[in-house]
Amino acid sequence: MKRPRKSALLLVLAMVPACNTRRSSEDTGIDLAGMDTSVAPGDDFNAYTNGGWIKSTPIPPDKSSYGIDAILADETRTRTRSLIQDAAKVGAPQSEDARKIGDFYASFLDEAGIESRGIAPLKPQLDSIAAIADRRTLARVLGGQLRADVDALNSTNFETGNLFGVWITQGLTDPSHSYPYLLQGGLGMPDRDYYVSPSPHMVELRKQYRAHVEAMFKLAGFTDPRGRAARVFALETAMAKVHATRVESEDVHSAVSWTRADLPSKAPGLDWPALLEAAHLSDAPAIVVWHPKAVAGLSALCAKQPLAAWKDWLAFHAVEDAAPYLPKAFVDERFNFHGKVLSGIPELRPRWQRAIDFTNAALGDAVGKMYVQRYFPAETQAKAQAMAADLVRAFAKRIDSLSWMSPETKVKAKQKLETLKIGVGYPDHWRDYSSLEIVKGEALANAQRAELFEYRSQLAKLHLPVDRGEWWMTPQTVNAVNLPLQNALNFPAAIIQPPYFDAKADAAHNYGAMGAVIGHEISHSFDDQGSQFDAEGRMANWWTKEDFEHFKAAGEALAAQFDAYRPFPDLAVNGKQTLSENIADAAGLMVAYDAYRLSLNGKPDAVKNGLTGDQRFFISFGQSWRSKVRDAELRKEIATDGHAPEQYRADTVRNLNAWYDAFSVQPSQKLSLPPDRRVHVW
Ligand SMILES: [Zn+2]
Repeated sequence: MKRPRKSALLLVLAMVPACNTRRSSEDTGIDLAGMDTSVAPGDDFNAYTNGGWIKSTPIPPDKSSYGIDAILADETRTRTRSLIQDAAKVGAPQSEDARKIGDFYASFLDEAGIESRGIAPLKPQLDSIAAIADRRTLARVLGGQLRADVDALNSTNFETGNLFGVWITQGLTDPSHSYPYLLQGGLGMPDRDYYVSPSPHMVELRKQYRAHVEAMFKLAGFTDPRGRAARVFALETAMAKVHATRVESEDVHSAVSWTRADLPSKAPGLDWPALLEAAHLSDAPAIVVWHPKAVAGLSALCAKQPLAAWKDWLAFHAVEDAAPYLPKAFVDERFNFHGKVLSGIPELRPRWQRAIDFTNAALGDAVGKMYVQRYFPAETQAKAQAMAADLVRAFAKRIDSLSWMSPETKVKAKQKLETLKIGVGYPDHWRDYSSLEIVKGEALANAQRAELFEYRSQLAKLHLPVDRGEWWMTPQTVNAVNLPLQNALNFPAAIIQPPYFDAKADAAHNYGAMGAVIGHEISHSFDDQGSQFDAEGRMANWWTKEDFEHFKAAGEALAAQFDAYRPFPDLAVNGKQTLSENIADAAGLMVAYDAYRLSLNGKPDAVKNGLTGDQRFFISFGQSWRSKVRDAELRKEIATDGHAPEQYRADTVRNLNAWYDAFSVQPSQKLSLPPDRRVHVW
């Protein structure tokens, strides 16, 4: 849920020499030059707030999209690089964590060493796949590959190339214990749509994917690469046909709890005991199966499809996953498909940037600890905490004043709000990496050991008391997240900085940007999914029937509003798939606006740069969605992302009455909605 995992920015003015963006003299935090005031705000609010920047800023050749989050992520990566380089300096006083960070990073940068070892680091894995001679061994190998690589409710990541994805967290109806969740997996392309959709765009991608699989087999020295690619593609197509759709994946009610003994009868085909043992799940009392139909379908394929096809599929995925850590030919071939073809990116990013991202993935907390020590002052944390508390108060007021909600439901909603646990900057407890082995010169093995370490850390939760303070993002991530099962929020340090939040900036700006982010995350606790979990994070119906009907109708109206957005003539936004995020955006903006007005204590805000306070609030919101995206990437996001494209997220201002007043929006203007069609979910 939450902010997009994507890109982009604005007032990095504070950190980078200004190019085409200039901070206004009165320090409103608004990029005046990036606006296009020739467009009426009521016709196209995104173009009005961001049109100047959109016209003058190309998407860098190594990115699929660009905008406020990508610019901040670049800045954060540059900072992280200096931390890592300092830690790795000869003679620097080194902690064991710093040594591991330095060695992991250096091993990935050692291109000559990686070239000289060729595919040898992957050989043991390929050998064990080649040795599979029966279905029991197949199940063991499949189980041994499972990792904690998906997340159904927090960051909503449903993609894994392993047969299943595993997520370990509280039970849906048992918040005091952790359980393993099993999700569908196995595809090499992002979603089932890529395999089954008749659209010409997808048909072309399928052709290119087969060529890519064949090229990977060829590079890895396999015989008959074309035949193997055909078998892999046929098997993945069969998997795609049993997969749930992206919209179905959002339905918490389709999840079931099965015991280990249930699996062979409810999902026959696989040798489940062998798979669970290899996956270290033999002692899990119950397993939450998120995609029961797909898990049953995939299990059946394990029995039905030829063993040779499974072995080819395993070998291809082993090479594909390892490719970033292998010689240049593998890196380039992987980028050619996943970067160029799937996302439209012309050029591969510099190696050091990939090195930072992989180091963050492997040793995220260790890097994060250094990051916050240098870049996240206690004063900023305190101010952001105060702002979050402010937003919670405004949300409570909003609940009090809702005319449609019954007193009983209000009590429950406020209980949930009062117990919401808000994490700002970084977690209370850091992960202990002492059992993770990092060896200089072993780029691939280091990454594989780090994934296994993460999986084991997650598995350990099955035997520990539940920690509601657990974090799901590293502090150096430019994003934020709501955790429905923990009734908690994480706001990483890297998003609590300009242009989102600047303690010295205008209140209208801070509330319109960071305030709306905080409001968005709080609102997720009350969106179409979050509203199904109570104050303790238990899936429970705490609504009266009438109240829930009203809430549902508002959601349907918002879904219809987004269904009408058409970025391509043949492709519309999916209002249902993006509903949680769209509710969070609209409700979050409303509560941020309330909090902004409350902060003024009844006094009018001054006019600055010729803009009223309300205008600056909405413009800051619009600029916080500043983004440009390549067509291929945009199509991918529409198919796989729970978020609507940024331009439409900026336009959600059309649901707020205050926006009409602020810009004198006329009924004839394009974004204008009659009052009864403005969606006020909360
Ligand atoms: Zn969200």
